[in-house]
Amino acid sequence: MTRITVAKGDGIGPEIMDATLKIILAAGAKIEMDFIEVGEKVYLAGNTAGIAPEAWDIIRRNKVFLKAPITTPQGGGYKSLNVTTRKFLGLYANVRPCVSLHPFVSTKHPQMDVVIVRENEEDLYAGIEHQQTNEVVQCLKLISRPGCEKIVRYAFEYAKQQGRKKVTCFTKDNIMKQTDGLFHQVFDEIAKEYPNIENEHWIIDIGAAKMADTPEAFDVIVMPNLYGDVLSDVAAQIAGSVGLAGSANIGEECAMFEAIHGSAPRRAGQNLANPSGLLQGAIMMLNHIGQTDVAEKVQNAWLTTIEEGIHTYDIYKEGVSKQKVGTSQFADAVIANLGKTPKILKAVSYANSATLHLPAYQRKAPAEKTLVGVDVFVDWQGTDPNTLAEMLKKIQLNGVELTMITNRGIKVWPNGFKETFCTDHWRCRFKPTAGNSFNKENIIQLLQNAVQQKIDVIKTENLYAFNGKDAYSLGQGQ
Ligand code: NAD
Repeated sequence: MTRITVAKGDGIGPEIMDATLKIILAAGAKIEMDFIEVGEKVYLAGNTAGIAPEAWDIIRRNKVFLKAPITTPQGGGYKSLNVTTRKFLGLYANVRPCVSLHPFVSTKHPQMDVVIVRENEEDLYAGIEHQQTNEVVQCLKLISRPGCEKIVRYAFEYAKQQGRKKVTCFTKDNIMKQTDGLFHQVFDEIAKEYPNIENEHWIIDIGAAKMADTPEAFDVIVMPNLYGDVLSDVAAQIAGSVGLAGSANIGEECAMFEAIHGSAPRRAGQNLANPSGLLQGAIMMLNHIGQTDVAEKVQNAWLTTIEEGIHTYDIYKEGVSKQKVGTSQFADAVIANLGKTPKILKAVSYANSATLHLPAYQRKAPAEKTLVGVDVFVDWQGTDPNTLAEMLKKIQLNGVELTMITNRGIKVWPNGFKETFCTDHWRCRFKPTAGNSFNKENIIQLLQNAVQQKIDVIKTENLYAFNGKDAYSLGQGQ
């Protein structure tokens, strides 16, 4: 018996959760449940997190959380509970299988069987944003080695366990050489440990186009958070419907399982919604807690029901479907099919699908880190970079000089193009002259000089070399 936490959520949530629980209990799931309240009611009661502290205690105690979709009220200060849950509980891997159910559910991609493994904790979702000048705001993209290692290893271990042939990595490391570059580098390192699984890397733009056009070319695809957010919805939609896909959010201690769609408020309370997405989440949960026989039984009964043409309104199609049913009738049809296996769709076997246990991250010996310069970011309303360079030369130190100015990453001094559009946000790079070294005192001195010269410094970014290799971006055009 495993004790799990259940949240029925908002909108169609309670109906699809009731249907899902009825099916898995009928199939013999050995679970005890603690029900918690999350979402709209909690938000509107004044809790901007959408969840009460006592509910966290229950989630953390049980470690396994089955969650129906919730409604995030529009406007003012409400934080997405999904993002908060993933980060608080360290749910670093988001796993979304997207399989087409051709010919029973319309799709342009009858052969599609892709699993998206999305990094879930970092990247632009760190939510660190600042306005720095009148015209410029920034969002920090943070990518960490442990974050990359955990997600990439998870993708390969998942592929190995599920007998999948290939893991593909999507990044934009031709542009983001440090952040996406690290993700790609770690992918290459870890891929070597799995010689029996094919590996490849695609630049995200053409990779996404290929996935939307020829998804059968892919098997497991691993990617950083933002790309994964976008592409996992695309993958689910082109497989047939976002209403059919579930997702697992996996951490070292805890895990959360859900449908990928939202609370569809307009469909609520009418016994219309398709419970399949949440049921898919629940099946992943059953595998996760080691009840693989029950998971397999439910999945094969569900495939049989889809194959019999018993469909909810969202996938019902004249000529293909046989019977249009509501949420609870669909659940009853799946229950009636428990023990059956599909005839045309591929029956599943989950013999090897229990929890993946990954080795803990091992921190490597630190590289030798040397300070080699500083980027001083300046808010300046002028337009001619040569004027700014003259001002900045007045703050130079003995042995430390201005080497470059960029505007939105494009080099505008020295030898800029007058055609380059400049905003009020300037990156001014100071480096030691030949034969000199650089230290933190130099930065303090530069900033003091800038204050005296009335130069509006908005931030600095230290330039480092690790083991003698420069670890910062060049200016575009440098
Ligand atoms: P949605 O996914 O709720 O609905 C999009 C469309 O899909 C609607 O036409 C809806 O009727 C249909 N649909 C969705 N699930 C269905 C199902 N199971 N059966 C049949 N049809 C289904 O997206 P939305 O309308 O953008 O968002 C509604 C609310 O859900 C918002 O408050 C949003 O913040 C929230 N949301 C929650 C989650 C979550 O809790 N994980 C995820 C996404 C959106």
